[in-house]
Amino acid sequence: MTPETLQQQRVTVVGGARSGVAVARLLRSAGAEVFLTEHAALEPSVCATLEGLGVAYETAGHTRRALEADMVVVSPGVPSTAPLVQQAQRIGLPVYSEIEAASWFCQAPIVAITGSNGKTTTTSLLGHVFRTAGRAPIVAGNIGYPFADYVQKATPDDVVVLEVSSFQLDHIDTFRPKVSVLLNITPDHLDRYNNNFNAYAQAKFRIFANQQEGDVLIYNHDDRLIREHVAHVAPKRSFTPVAISQHHEVPTGAFVREGTIILRIHQQEDVLMQANKRAPALSGRHNLYNSLAAAVAGRVMEVRSDVVRESLTSFEGVPHRLEFVRTVDGVRYVNDSKATNVNAVWYALESFNEPLVLLAGGRDKGNDYSSLKPLVQQKARAVIALGESADTVMQELGTRAPHATRAATMEEALRHARLFAAPGDVVLLSPACSSFDMFDNYEHRGDTFRRLVNSL
Ligand code: ADP
Repeated sequence: MTPETLQQQRVTVVGGARSGVAVARLLRSAGAEVFLTEHAALEPSVCATLEGLGVAYETAGHTRRALEADMVVVSPGVPSTAPLVQQAQRIGLPVYSEIEAASWFCQAPIVAITGSNGKTTTTSLLGHVFRTAGRAPIVAGNIGYPFADYVQKATPDDVVVLEVSSFQLDHIDTFRPKVSVLLNITPDHLDRYNNNFNAYAQAKFRIFANQQEGDVLIYNHDDRLIREHVAHVAPKRSFTPVAISQHHEVPTGAFVREGTIILRIHQQEDVLMQANKRAPALSGRHNLYNSLAAAVAGRVMEVRSDVVRESLTSFEGVPHRLEFVRTVDGVRYVNDSKATNVNAVWYALESFNEPLVLLAGGRDKGNDYSSLKPLVQQKARAVIALGESADTVMQELGTRAPHATRAATMEEALRHARLFAAPGDVVLLSPACSSFDMFDNYEHRGDTFRRLVNSL
């Protein structure tokens, strides 16, 4: 599709949150006839915006009208399993995601980043790399700025850094990043893939489905599933695979040799920096992966090595991802509210040498806690279990620590934490669960933690 071919096409946009409204506006600007359908109630201000744009809409439910269209565009929050999406597919309507539709308008090269964990960190780090290089990247996607809102600003000389979720990849058609980054694939959101890990992994692999000669796929060589898949498909395709690894000296890509980050591109080795000179916000093994990915992506996009090095030492981090809040009575408090799955918590626990008081729990998405048990046993002074999954957390993790208790609120959790923690310890909020049982979202949970810590 191109903006020209959208003229008078009937498009139904599913979802009336920020991205849905953004894509409706974008499609309308190309002369499409847009109808927006939202299963919940639309805010009056959104209705007014849609009316101003000449977008017809329905609210608090989908009717047959939603399927009277030439194509359907889904907002990022709408799972592929949603009945309306399935119905559209059944009757043969093309279904596109918001990034797909926005990409029809994009004149700039796109660096697209996906993975189960680390997307936002790597996206914002790469944005920082380009900014340090004096370029003004457009940083958008799942990171909170809908691509559709920003895409028309991008000229061929710009660069777009795009955080992409698997739901968005489910419905791409021609979306073609110049550089794609696949960080890792671990179980998450399986509830939205009918508990089918393979379907979720396949969605992630779609990030490079349309890449061609001259395009680059940056992938995690230490992730077996990804490595094997790339080894299988890359020989049949013309894009250039570039690896990142902490354990192997990969022929092309970024790796670590005796504590030093090395970039090897076009058979040339470039000693980038000592891994432990990275900014505090990039500490931990998981952030080493994110750093390798952003470094090599920057180099592929022609950012100089010294600029990449400077960026990795000056990055200030992203809120709610191992965010240091404050030291109280010699105890450091760290907000990792975005750790909504077990793998993220594993890396969080891994990245501390100090004794930990771990605050975990919330709405469980079907977690298997077994990989956390040895780390809790080794590092936790106490576990404080919160939210709907408190019983499971007590049972699975609490039994591995010298102390464990349940807390009904974040205030109570912090009261317990303060009693358990000794000077030199770290109190870590890293829940392994989503927040919706007690909070509006993970930001609300992290903000609450931060506010309470600041008032200790
Ligand atoms: P995403 O956008 O993919 O959800 P974030 O950068 O927001 O990823 O980080 C989410 C959580 O995962 C945080 O707790 C963070 O510390 C952890 N994390 C970040 N990068 C990685 C990685 N490469 N591997 C595993 N966990 C990670």
